[in-house]
Amino acid sequence: RAKAAGGNRFELADPEADARAITRHGLTTALPTALDRGEFFIEYQPLVHLGDGSVRGAEALVRWLHPQHGVLSPDRFIPLAEHTGLIVPLGRWVLEQSVRQAREWRDVNGGDALGPLRINVNLSPCQLTHPGLVQDTVEILERTGVAPDALCLEVTESALIGADDDLLKPLRRLAEMGVDIALDDFGTGYSNLANLRRLPVSVLKLDRSFTQSMQQFPADPVDLKIVEGIVSLAHSLDLAVTVEGVETGAQAEQLRILGCDTAQGWYYARPGPPERLHELALVDATG
Ligand code: C2E
Ligand code: MG
Ligand code: MG
Ligand code: MG
Repeated sequence: RAKAAGGNRFELADPEADARAITRHGLTTALPTALDRGEFFIEYQPLVHLGDGSVRGAEALVRWLHPQHGVLSPDRFIPLAEHTGLIVPLGRWVLEQSVRQAREWRDVNGGDALGPLRINVNLSPCQLTHPGLVQDTVEILERTGVAPDALCLEVTESALIGADDDLLKPLRRLAEMGVDIALDDFGTGYSNLANLRRLPVSVLKLDRSFTQSMQQFPADPVDLKIVEGIVSLAHSLDLAVTVEGVETGAQAEQLRILGCDTAQGWYYARPGPPERLHELALVDATG
C-alpha cells in the first residue's frame, strides 16, 4: 500500500513503523508515573568465576511490567527514559534496590560466609553527567551498610569515548572510594586502547559479539587473537575481564583458556528473581 505524498512522489505506508511510533508515544507518556506506580522490577543474572565456577555476584537488569504490554525489556524503554530525563530517578531507584538486595544476600548468607556477592548496576550516560551521582551513591551505600567494593557500576564504552576530565571526575571519585567501574559492551565502539589508561576503570566487559564468535569450533582464529590480545592488555593494566552472553559450555571453556576471569550468560543462568541467585550461590558453596 502506497499513499500519494504530493506530486509524483510516493511514500510507502509502513503499518509496523506506525504501530511502533504509537507504542513509543504511549510508553513515553506512561513512563513518568510508572516509577510511582511500582511498575519497574529488577532481575539478577549471576556473574560466575570462570576458574572455579563459583557465583561471585550478579548484574541488575531492570524490566517494566506495563499494565497493557506486559513485561518490557530495557531496550524498549531505557532510551525513552534517557530522552525524558526519567532515567535519573529510575537509575537511582535501580541502584538503591540492587544495593539493598546485595545487603539481603549478605544477611541471608550469614555475613560473608559464602564470600561477598557483588552487585553490578548499569549507569546511563545521563546519570554520569547528573551532579547528584556521587552523593546519591554514597548515601545509598551508607543507608544499606554495603561496602563500596561490593558495588560495580557499568558504563558503556561509547559513553566514555572522548570523555573529558569533567565527565570522568565523578567516576574517579567513586573509584577512589572503592567502587569498581566496568566498561560495558567493550570492543563494539571505536576503542582507543591507549585511552584505557586514562579511565578509572577496573573491569572490561567484553561484548557478546566476541562470545558469539566462540560458538563455532574451531573458533575464528582472528577473533581468538583479538580476544587474547584484549585479555593480555587488560591484565597488564590490572583490569579484570568479564565476558557476556555465554550460552554454551564450549564458549565458556574457550574463554577460560583465553584467560577471561568472569562470565555471564544463559549457560549459567538467565536473569531472574533475587531468590534464584541466593539458591545458586548456596548450591555452589555446599557443593
Ligand atoms: P547489558 O548491560 O550489556 O546487559 C546484558 C544483556 O544481555 C541483558 O539484556 C541480558 O539479559 C542479556 N544476556 C545475558 N546473557 C545472555 C546470553 O547468554 N545470550 C543473550 N543473547 N543475551 C544475554 P537486557 O536485560 O535486555 O538488557 C539490555 C540492556 O539494557 C543492558 O545491556 C543495559 O545496557 C540496559 N539496561 C538494563 N538495565 C539497566 C538499568 O538499570 N539502567 C540502565 N541505564 N541500563 C540498563
Ligand atoms: Mg551491563
Ligand atoms: Mg553488557
Ligand atoms: Mg551488552
